[in-house]
Amino acid sequence: MTFCSFCGKAQNEVRKMIAGPAGVHICDSCVSVCKTIIDRELAGQPEGKLKPKGTQGGESGPFKLLKPAAIKQKLDEHIIGQDYAKRALAVAVYNHYKRLSAEVNGEGKSSSGEFADVEIEKSNILLLGPTGSGKTLLARTLAKMIDVPFAIVDATTLTEAGYVGEDVENIVLRLLQSANNDVERAQCGIIYVDEIDKIGRKTDNVSITRDVSGEGVQQALLKIIEGTVCNVPPQGGRKHPNQEYIQVDTSNILFICGGAFVGLEKMVQSRTNAKFMGFNRSDISGDGAKSERTASELLREVQPEDLVHFGMIPEFIGRLPMVAVLDELTVSDLEHIMQNTKNSLVKQYAKLFSMEQVKLHFTRDAIVAVAEKAIELKTGARALRAIMERIMMDVMYDLPQSEGVEEVTITRGVVEGRAKPKVKSVKKAVQDKSMDAA
Ligand code: ADP
Repeated sequence: MTFCSFCGKAQNEVRKMIAGPAGVHICDSCVSVCKTIIDRELAGQPEGKLKPKGTQGGESGPFKLLKPAAIKQKLDEHIIGQDYAKRALAVAVYNHYKRLSAEVNGEGKSSSGEFADVEIEKSNILLLGPTGSGKTLLARTLAKMIDVPFAIVDATTLTEAGYVGEDVENIVLRLLQSANNDVERAQCGIIYVDEIDKIGRKTDNVSITRDVSGEGVQQALLKIIEGTVCNVPPQGGRKHPNQEYIQVDTSNILFICGGAFVGLEKMVQSRTNAKFMGFNRSDISGDGAKSERTASELLREVQPEDLVHFGMIPEFIGRLPMVAVLDELTVSDLEHIMQNTKNSLVKQYAKLFSMEQVKLHFTRDAIVAVAEKAIELKTGARALRAIMERIMMDVMYDLPQSEGVEEVTITRGVVEGRAKPKVKSVKKAVQDKSMDAA
């Protein structure tokens, strides 16, 4: 029996075994792995490879090029409010992929005429907005619609090489994994770096002690964001000398960094001397408040110097030229999120109930009550699911064993824990009774 000298597989486990001198053999799959490595290393990126898929997605290629209005329209299906951020992102993402396809199709550097020497720089994005306002959702939805690989990383878990924690290169590994190890696809993917504000040095002690670890991570991230060829260990984890690496060029990866940047609005305010009141427009009432600005209005005027003051290093900010601000969600936004998004919680529960042939109904007031509870928790739309789960748990526990239930109504009383859901049974269709009596 002969064995592949590279992977050790036996002849009967492979399709073809090629014999070399001195008893050396290689199997067909090892030949194909070698070919891929050689193609990549010697030939580089063949021209035309990064052709966009086109708006219909019919053509093959690593991404779909959608126009800003189409991007915004699709974002509207999933994300409530955040109009400003959606428009800004639509333009930034369109420009990024437009530049990518032009570069690859030879319309970039090689073009003649007035702009022949102009190189369009990558424009990574910084999202500023409170927790649970939709930053991650925006980034994820964008990646899905452009049809590129997507990875989320939490900046607080990252460390400089050599420290305990996750190497910055691992973020590229995640993207590669999401691209099913297709390097070409990964190279035009999107990476969302969450909690970017947490790796700033502490502003209070700028002059005394510098938060070196935060700065170190910013420096390490900076290299990847501005574009470098990363040696990614295929299995992740720490690098070691005898390991084989996969090389991934990060120059065309779009980085979206997000953070709540709590207190940044006050820095903008003190620079502009504007009056400030809460995050929300709805906080503003009365004539005297007209000159006061909400946190998101102030943040829209953020300047690089404010972010430096906050603790970000200037070079890092320089690599995130596109800044989009998200608003804190209002009760009415949360109502919409619960009811009107594609996979809204109300629709999901209604579907679950319909599988038991039961109609689920939430009164308007019940929805408002859930939204109000979420606002109290100050975690934006994130709190909605937990609140709903708690409300629905008892109903879903009882329902499968309750006979003849036709309709269940959730009221404000149920949300506030003062009442039981109203249940309408088939036999007594006209009469409402409470769930526990069913
Ligand atoms: P962030 O990243 O800003 O902290 P996320 O995007 O992770 O917030 O939001 C958490 C969840 O809340 C999302 O998965 C989504 O279900 C919901 N959500 C948040 N904001 C919105 C929004 N503007 N529209 C619709 N759903 C939202």
